[in-house]
Amino acid sequence: MHKVTLIPGDGIGPEITQVVIEVFDKLKAPISWEMVDAGAKAIKKYGTPLPEVVLESIKRNKVALKGPITTPVGEGFRSVNVTLREKLNLYANLRPVKSLPGINNKFEKIDLVIIRENTECLYKGIEYSIDESTSCAVRVITRAASEKIAKYAFDYARRHDRKKVTAVHKANIQKLTDGLFLQSIRNISNNYPEVEYEEKIVDNMSMQLVLNPEKYDVIVCPNLYGDILSDLAAGLIGGLGLAPGANIGDEIAVFEAVHGSAPDIAGKGIANPIALLRSSVMLLEYLEEYQLAKKLEFAIEKAVEDKNILTPDLKGKGTTESLKNKIISMLDL
Ligand code: NAD
Repeated sequence: MHKVTLIPGDGIGPEITQVVIEVFDKLKAPISWEMVDAGAKAIKKYGTPLPEVVLESIKRNKVALKGPITTPVGEGFRSVNVTLREKLNLYANLRPVKSLPGINNKFEKIDLVIIRENTECLYKGIEYSIDESTSCAVRVITRAASEKIAKYAFDYARRHDRKKVTAVHKANIQKLTDGLFLQSIRNISNNYPEVEYEEKIVDNMSMQLVLNPEKYDVIVCPNLYGDILSDLAAGLIGGLGLAPGANIGDEIAVFEAVHGSAPDIAGKGIANPIALLRSSVMLLEYLEEYQLAKKLEFAIEKAVEDKNILTPDLKGKGTTESLKNKIISMLDL
């Protein structure tokens, strides 16, 4: 039995984590969940969105599945997501982007992975106001974190038989920060002669991803560019409802969908659970439960062939429930 921390989260979080619980139950996955609250519920209960009990539980179990957590815009507490990644040193944000058969006819063969540096860049949250009309943000890039994410990206490519790593930057303008990021990736790339290496400026990369996404394999980025490009790439395969992710550290991993708490559809029963289910496939692989991971991945691929049960984000008329039931019915194939 693997003990895994489960954070239901805000907005659609409880609806889609409940789907994972039920699907894992049917899969007979050897997982025992330890449920803890972060976000809005935790504020009510503990006066903070990220109480110590959450960090303690993840540190103890080493693995967590997390629903999305709302962050107020322009005011209020600091993002729980960013704080969690920082406090647990989850330095790599792994975001596979893979087409599902029949979902988006424009791009059927996308199979790339965005690896986003997860601890620094603008997400350090260092901001100050000089006066009422001028505010500044500090963008922090270090050689240590850049080399660490580079090593993670090239090791990932090697482990998964991926052929190419593309480093994304804006070193033509941000000469010191992105310059250091790029120099660090280049240094590490020399140790992996069998992996093709290329560099792309982030604005060009955005266009290339829309025009020719099939050309990309592993993409490694500083934090902010990785955040933006992974939403863009999610759009290419049919939307955020399909895009999984994982925050990986040396000893701890927290799995979560790329998307947020989707307050516009929360409570309506139409949230797409696939992104979190695909994150759960990654969790099963991380726990070396490869057979179960394959079974679940296959069930998702088969389920989406039935267009009647798809949620509205996939242009269907179904609900979270109809999609869940279809996936469960495909587990035994
Ligand atoms: P969002 O990802 O929540 O939603 C963007 C759009 O995608 C919305 O129209 C939403 O309905 C749709 N969408 C997202 N997930 C979906 C799903 N599973 N099924 C169907 N449709 C889905 O982004 P946002 O609206 O910019 O952010 C809302 C909140 O989430 C903010 O407070 C933000 O800070 C937070 N957020 C949290 C995380 C996280 O917990 N890791 C990540 C991103 C955003």
